[in-house]
Amino acid sequence: MGGAQQGMEVMFLAEMKDRTLADISPQMVTIAKQLSAQWGGVLSAVLFGAEVGACARTLISLGVAKVYVAEHPALEYYQPEAYLGALSQLVTDVQPQAFLLGHTALGQDLAPRLAARLAAGLVTNCVALQVIPETGRLQMIRPVFGGKARGMYLSGDGAIQLATIAQKVFEPALPDESNTGAIVNFASTIDAGSFKVQVVKRRTEDTDGMRLEEAKVIVAGGRGLGSAEAFVQLKELAGILDGCIGASRAAVDNGWLAGRLQIGLTGKVVSPQLYIAVGISGAIQHMSGCLAAKTIVAINRDPEASIFTMAQVGVVADWREIIPPLVATCRRLLHQDQE
Ligand SMILES: Cc1cc2nc3c(=O)[nH]c(=O)nc-3n(C[C@H](O)[C@H](O)[C@H](O)COP(=O)(O)OP(=O)(O)OC[C@H]3O[C@@H](n4cnc5c(N)ncnc54)[C@H](O)[C@@H]3O)c2cc1C
Repeated sequence: MGGAQQGMEVMFLAEMKDRTLADISPQMVTIAKQLSAQWGGVLSAVLFGAEVGACARTLISLGVAKVYVAEHPALEYYQPEAYLGALSQLVTDVQPQAFLLGHTALGQDLAPRLAARLAAGLVTNCVALQVIPETGRLQMIRPVFGGKARGMYLSGDGAIQLATIAQKVFEPALPDESNTGAIVNFASTIDAGSFKVQVVKRRTEDTDGMRLEEAKVIVAGGRGLGSAEAFVQLKELAGILDGCIGASRAAVDNGWLAGRLQIGLTGKVVSPQLYIAVGISGAIQHMSGCLAAKTIVAINRDPEASIFTMAQVGVVADWREIIPPLVATCRRLLHQDQE
């Protein structure tokens, strides 16, 4: 197979959250494993932080052959200078075929810095990747023009290729305790005192309970709601259904709901069982964040609204005529259930 000048490793950055593997990490294993098999190389992961041993063993059970581990207090939380220094050192030493990061807040911040430092190519938000057998080059596909089209990119000849992987596109790898692998400690020279940015305080965002990305039911509102007050009724419905509230960018731009609740291209990508979209027109930039929902119910007074072409259930009506009786009915059914 051509084009394989590097060390035949496919390497990815495994992310941690609260000292366990973040959801993106097993998804990264799936695609990185496919690429390393196509290249006939070794699948390796990088883990930064404190007390990462258990996560390293989990990665091995998921099928990672080699886990590079750097434990340092400066690496426990994402700090761009610390991560950049340690990663560029490791990637320069190992020379993998490709280095993958999640298209997460961390990956989106770190990947361009790393690509610039390594003078490597970078394709972000990839939804499909494969190795072209004839050339050994990496082909990467990502949404372009706000999700209206797909762009296809090829890695350069002999260069390390960087890519960020879209969230929730690849099925997470499953553990198999019979898998074996090696944990490799690598020493990174980190001089925390020299960082231009010092983190002085860390505060966990108040998420009002459940995280949007994990919700099984989401009730999302758009410009059609007309005011911040109208969201009270959506919140009530979401509460009864044990779900979360979300919003379109128009609603967020109007200041009706916090930016962290925006769904779409520049917001969160969600995959609930039920997505109730109220007063949302169905712009592709919004739908690209919720099309993975099992069932989309659209409530919109305009029968021509494009959301009706994507929803499984459509209600052509003013939301003010639908939401109050829906809340009352759900409440009654729930009470009957509890009696
Ligand atoms: C680069 C880029 C990134 C973007 N990222 C995002 C993103 O992440 N998320 C996102 O949401 N958007 C995003 N947008 C914006 C997107 O293109 C749309 O402008 C936005 O989604 C529209 O929001 P909306 O559907 O709430 O508003 P509108 O398009 O104005 O739709 C409002 C709908 O409400 C209906 N309506 C009005 N009154 C009622 C009523 N009383 N009852 C029932 N229905 C009613 C109307 O018929 C209409 O269909 C992005 C745009 C760009 C260019």
